[in-house]
Amino acid sequence: MKLIAWLLLLTLYLGLVKASVHVISTNETYAGRTAAFGPRLLENGKFGYLIEPQDPFACNVVEPVYDNWIALVRRGQCSFITKVRNMQKSGAIAVVVGDPDHSSWVTMYAPGDTTDVLIPSMFLTRREYRSLIRLTKLVDGPLMVLMQPEDFITWPLFDVLIIVIISPCIMMSFIYLSWKIRQRQKHKQDLAPVDVVMKLTMKIFSREKIRENEAEECAICLEDYADGDELRVLPCKHDFHVSCVDAWLTTQKKFCPICKRDITCISTSEVTPLLDA
Ligand SMILES: [Zn+2]
Ligand SMILES: [Zn+2]
Repeated sequence: MKLIAWLLLLTLYLGLVKASVHVISTNETYAGRTAAFGPRLLENGKFGYLIEPQDPFACNVVEPVYDNWIALVRRGQCSFITKVRNMQKSGAIAVVVGDPDHSSWVTMYAPGDTTDVLIPSMFLTRREYRSLIRLTKLVDGPLMVLMQPEDFITWPLFDVLIIVIISPCIMMSFIYLSWKIRQRQKHKQDLAPVDVVMKLTMKIFSREKIRENEAEECAICLEDYADGDELRVLPCKHDFHVSCVDAWLTTQKKFCPICKRDITCISTSEVTPLLDA
């Protein structure tokens, strides 16, 4: 249960920090990860021109070319926070930092006070960064993009929810059901068939005809036999009220409640002659 909670938290975290760059002209979306510092991307995102600054590493402040521009900068040479601060000073409304060499995900982090950072930023791995750079060089003029937070409800939270919670539930239900069915089958094997029970000997109790060693009470309901009671005599010669023992044999166990012998297996010849009626 603890593990599930952690996985959920992790998913929620991963989902919250995901972001993407959507290129308007090609309708393509590049997934990234938002920085741990600076403001969060709002639902309607940041709309602007994606431009690689004169200093591609953004380790220096540059002259702004457009009003609504989003800086597409390279990882390396100076810290993430330096790049974002420089681009903020250069008039950029957001920053996209791409890793030109590696394909591993990085959450851009900065120590100390970062409350001066007023623009959102995100990180792209090599594949996304290189595709975007290629695109900026292919098209005439600046590339219009929408930087937006990823819908964390649909992905990956929902998928992981299904995998982490719903799938095990379905599996547990299946296991439980098959266990139940097996239990029921096993229980059925423990019962005596009705037709076998019906063929067992019956007698009418009479106090006058009672012999030594013969039972005078039903071991199931613990009531004394009364004259005229219908008794069922099992192959082991133990007798009980018909209604008591028939219910016992067909719904509880196929064994004699006293001597535990299986009434479907034993024949009368196995029975001790002492108890023979
Ligand atoms: Zn009884
Ligand atoms: Zn018995």
